[in-house]
This record gives sequence, structure tokens and C-alpha cells, in this order.
Amino acid sequence: MSEATCDFLVPPSSARIAHSSTWREDISRLLYVSGAREQALRRLGIERVGDLLSRIPYRYLDFSHAHDIESAPIGEVSTIVARVDRVVERRPRPRLSVTEISLVDATGVLQVAFFKQPWIARQIAIGDRLAVLGKIEFAYGFKQMTSPHYERLDPAATTGSILPVHKVSEGLSTAWMRRIISVALGRLGSFADAIPADLRARHGLMSAARAMRAIHFPVSFVERDAARRRLAYDEILILQLALRLRNDANLLGVRPSAHLVASHVRALRESLPFQLTDEQQRASDEILRDMADPDRIMNRLLLGDVGTGKTAVACIGLACVADTETQACVMAPTGVLAEQHAARCGSILDKAGVTWALLTGSTTPAERADIVSRLADGKLCVLFGTHAVLGEDVCFRHLSLVVIDEQHRFGVNQRNMLRAKGIGADLLVMTATPIPRTMALSVFGDLDTSVIRHRPIAGAGVATRVLSESSRDIAIGALRDAIARGEQAYVICPLVEPTDQGDDLEEVFEDEDARDSGSSQAAPLRNVEQEAERLRQVLGTARIARLHGRMPPREKDRVITAFRSGEIDVLVSTTVVEVGVDVGGATVMVIENGERFGLATLHQLRGRVGRGSTPGTCFILTRAAGKLNVQARVRLRALERTSDGFALAEMDLRLRHEGEILGLRQHGGVSLRYVDFDADTDLIEWAHDDAIELLGSSGGLRSARTVPLRLEVIDRYGDVFKEVSGG
Ligand code: ADP
Ligand code: MG
Repeated sequence: MSEATCDFLVPPSSARIAHSSTWREDISRLLYVSGAREQALRRLGIERVGDLLSRIPYRYLDFSHAHDIESAPIGEVSTIVARVDRVVERRPRPRLSVTEISLVDATGVLQVAFFKQPWIARQIAIGDRLAVLGKIEFAYGFKQMTSPHYERLDPAATTGSILPVHKVSEGLSTAWMRRIISVALGRLGSFADAIPADLRARHGLMSAARAMRAIHFPVSFVERDAARRRLAYDEILILQLALRLRNDANLLGVRPSAHLVASHVRALRESLPFQLTDEQQRASDEILRDMADPDRIMNRLLLGDVGTGKTAVACIGLACVADTETQACVMAPTGVLAEQHAARCGSILDKAGVTWALLTGSTTPAERADIVSRLADGKLCVLFGTHAVLGEDVCFRHLSLVVIDEQHRFGVNQRNMLRAKGIGADLLVMTATPIPRTMALSVFGDLDTSVIRHRPIAGAGVATRVLSESSRDIAIGALRDAIARGEQAYVICPLVEPTDQGDDLEEVFEDEDARDSGSSQAAPLRNVEQEAERLRQVLGTARIARLHGRMPPREKDRVITAFRSGEIDVLVSTTVVEVGVDVGGATVMVIENGERFGLATLHQLRGRVGRGSTPGTCFILTRAAGKLNVQARVRLRALERTSDGFALAEMDLRLRHEGEILGLRQHGGVSLRYVDFDADTDLIEWAHDDAIELLGSSGGLRSARTVPLRLEVIDRYGDVFKEVSGG
């Protein structure tokens, strides 16, 4: 590890003592924590007071609207707080236990029964105050509740009328958990607030100590929500700072490459068969500026729908690497895509005199050995490839630019493995999948973004229709008409062969309905093999070909080439066509089992048609409307209404439990627990701006004002810095 890194990682000792007072204390120091309970906490991964306080309630019971027994309406769900008057455990049959509890308040009696939970009788005693939440029934002259959610109230640890419920495990009760958290909160007096007071005031955020108290024991739900926002702000700001620091060359002890812009860039620009659009021009200027900067490592996202001309822009970056006499690596998620890059960029690079090679899983050992040796001695400038480039034997003489295409398809580890081959190398991430801004900011806070919104050649566009499977004839009719006019069509199926299961889907999305109904009941998903056969019978003389990920690369190539040159009318395919395959003459697409795909995927797929001068139509077939849940239908209908990929990605995000969409919530071991990507747009923007401001101010995070914040960054992300700097 370099000295600079060490220096950052070691906090000033006085600050460390003040800050660590409570948060880092071992839980055994807390009153009541010992013996079996201490062991139970440790089994939950709770070692320090901070770990304990980080376990925020998973639900809150609201007693502000509790009823008395008399007024609780029969047939409705109510919360009742009352005193335990009687506890009886009965065993009417050998393996059935019934715990009967009578609750009384000033207005009446409520009979509560629990089945097969014999331990309840041991936990609850006559005289306890009990809160129960459940449906009120009436029988045998009494109001009753069966197996309600219940809490024994411990007045000492509760404030107000909202009762927090923390997750516990065997050996711990929720009541005890509340008490122990309340003890821990009582010691938070000296808690140093990581966020400088002026920033808190600017955004109207409560103090850290108050937020901690309020998230555990809120006086109102408004207060609870404000507390969550404060904690979410911390979470994002600290991640932003860590991400930015992680790319701080000084910190890493590396010198960023100061790329040169010279003859190769000029030659490449001149050899392009077209004039760059303004957007392409701006994007390439931004990239070259970053690459030339001797003080910063580039971290740039090049965002643009398929066909917006990202390839040419990336090639300019590659030529700049040639001018600098260093090396670049372009990694794509699939063989088809890597080959396509190599084919497209390769011809441009050749004209500009830039050497390149392609390395995929199907490269022969002899070729591979040749490529590896030319990379090692620096004779080869640009390497295109798939994961194959991550191989241990693949070593660059001086890797100064890493280009990753369709970034979201790679795991964080893969991204890091490639970057580790050239510490301090500039990074360009290309993606056609719009990442909602809030998510891009919070998770890739360090990525600057260049956006290309418009295609250089505007196609005629595509209209989308969502049809239930019973209306398949409409789609097939349109397909037949298109072929008769000499146009081409795609049919997309989720599976390759009839024997495949839903698990074989490359795409991760399933609508909840499909998951609930189980594979045995759900209608089988469409597959490429049978669909091609079916179409052959329906379409007679049409030339039909299949394309899927299991075909040998050479075979795939042959099919794509034949389709491109018009020798094939209908391509029956899996989502392998989603990324990259680009054929101008296609006008109709039929997507089977549309409910099985995410909006982003469907949007990418339909972007394949209507690229030329004839407008396209995309039919999305789904199970009968009645069998599809409302959410799935709303989701698909959005495709009919909008062609804005960004809007769709945001919608996907809202409907699909936010972060799960790209697996971003758990990003490289970072887990974001408080932030709500949808609701916290403002917080995310603030944190983004604040991180830049804090790091840009004199002294950066080392000023007295930001010492606690710096400690917090180190505490949460110190490992990341060690990993990057190889320490
Ligand atoms: P992307 O990588 O963003 O999907 P490509 O770089 O493959 O897009 O470009 C799509 C098509 O547009 C290619 O055929 C390319 O030659 C063409 N193209 C790119 N830029 C321009 C431009 N400025 N003018 C005309 N055609 C362009
Ligand atoms: Mg592309």
C-alpha cells in the first residue's frame, strides 16, 4: 500500500477516541447483555453497539388508533391494548396445543387463541399489558381474535404510541430487544455527527443521534420518515465520497495516464465514413479531455440507445491510446457482441493504423498464445473480447484504457478484475440500458456521464401492441404481410428447446403471477425450436432461421450474416438479439411470453425493428389478460405509450422493488439499506453535489469540520481502499 493510502486510512487518534466512544463499543459493555443473550446477539452478527443500533425495526405497530374492546368493530382488523387476565394452555388432541388468553380493559373482554404455539403461554403472564393486532370475530357471546400479531408491552422502553418491532432470533424476545436498544441509545450522548452542521441545516436534516432514536422509537410516523431520510442521506453521501476517493489517483499512489491526442486520432476521424453528430462529437471531446487529464482517472459512462453510434465514439478513445503508445481492452458480455465490436471497430482502426485482436472463448490455443505474447510486449494496441480477456495469462505491457460494454451484465468482480490489469487505467463504460439517474448517481456516483440521445440516422420508428395470446393471429398476419412486401421479421421466445424450464431463461425477470402459479400450472413457455417449426407450417415458403446462445459462434455468425443480407425472412431467436444485432430491413417483431421480460429488455428488443425507412411494429404476446396480475399489465402497457427508454427504466424501477432491477442495491459488498431510489431523488442529488463540494474544498475531508465524516467513510469502506491499492 502506498504511503498516501496509509495516511488516509489512519485517523487522527484524538478524533478516533471521541468518535468511537459508543458506536464501536463491544455489546458486552451494555447493561443486560451477557450469557446466552450475548451469544444470541453475536450469532446475529451483532458485535458492537453500532451493529445493534443498525438493526432498525422491520415494522412498527401503531397504537395511536387502538380501539377499546367494546368499540372494536366486528369483522375488521383492529389493534387492542389490554391487560392479561387469564392464560390457559389446552391440548384437545395429542399434537394440538391451544393457548387461550383473556384480555380485559375498562370496556370488556377479548378472547384470544393461538394454535400450536405452546411457548406463548410461557412468555405471557397474568397482569401483562399486551397489544394484539388481528381481525375481531364474535362467537359464544365474546369478541375473539385468532393467532393475532402480539407484543408484550414494556412501558420502560417505549415512547409514544408507536411500537417498534425488531427482528430477533431464538433466545431473544422483541421486548428484550427493545429494552437493550433503548439502553444503547441512552449512551449515545457523545455521538459525533458525521455530517457537518452547516450541511444538515442546509437540507433540514435532523441530527444523527436524534435520527437513531427516532428510527427505533418514533413519536410519530412523520418523525420516523424524517429519520429514515437522514440515515439515507448519510448512506449515499458516504458511498459517494468512497467512490470518488477510490478513483483518486493520489490516494491510490498511481499516476493517471496523460493520454496524447495526435496522428492516430486525426487519421481515425478522417477515415470515418460519416460526419459525427453533435452529440457524438461532444461525447468524444469529453472522453478525450478526461483521457488527456494528467491528474484524474477517467470514469465515464457513455449512455445511448442501440444504434446511437457509440462505437465510433469509443474508437476515437482507442486511437488516442495508440497515440500514447499504451494499450486498451474492450470487454463485451457475449461472443456475438465482442465479434461485432471487433468487426465494426476493426475496420475503422485498420484505416487509422491501430493494431487490434479479438479474444473469446472460441479463440484457438495457438491464436491465443500469439495474442498473449503480442500484448505482453506491447506490439498489440487494442484487445476486444469476452470474459476470456480476464484470463490470468492475459497481461498487458501498459493497459491505460478499459472499455466495458453493457456494463450491467458484468458482476462487479469482473469489472474490478479487468481494471486490476491496469491500475489507474481510464474507464469507459458503454451501455444501451438507461440506468435511472437516481440509481446511477447513488451507485456509480463517481461516473461522469456522456449521453447520446438521438440516432445519427433516425429510423421510421416502431409502434408497440400488447396482445393476449388468443390474438396471436393478428401478429402472425402482420408478419406474413411484411414478408410478402419483402421485409424481415423477428420472433422472440424465452426458451431454446421444449424441454427447457423457466430457470434456463437468460433474463432474470418473472412477473409475480408466474412465480406464484408454479411451473406445473403455468402454461409452458414458448421455445425457439417449436416456434420455428410452427411458423414453417403457417408461413409456407418463407425462409426461417433460428438463433440462440447455444449455437456454436460460427453458426450464429452465419445466421446473422444471412439475415443481414436478406437471405432469411424470419429470425426465430432468444434474447441474444437484444444486444447489438442490427439489421435495417426488419419491420415486424413478435415477442412471446412478454410478461417474462423486464421493460428494459423489451425496449431493447423492439428497438431492432423500424430502423430503416419503413415503420416497424412490435407485438408483445402475453397470457390472457385476466390471468395476468394488474402490475404486469400496467408494466407492459407502458411500452405502448412511451418510446422513452429512460422513462421506462424509471418505471421498471418503481414497479420492480427498486434496486433489484440491476442487482445494484448490493453493489460490490456495499449494501444500501435506507435509501429509496424512487422517493429520495432530492437526497441523492444533494449527496452527489455535497460530495463534490466537500472533496473540492481546501483540505478535502481532512479539515476539522469533516473529521467524523472521514472516519465514517473509512469505517464503512476502508476495505475498498485497501483492496484497490493492493494493500
Ligand atoms: P451503438 O454502438 O450505439 O449501438 P453503432 O455505433 O453500432 O451504435 O452505430 C449504429 C449505426 O450507425 C452503424 O451502422 C454506424 O455506422 C452508424 N453511424 C454511427 N454514427 C453515425 C453518424 N454520425 N452518421 C451516420 N451514421 C452513423
Ligand atoms: Mg453497440
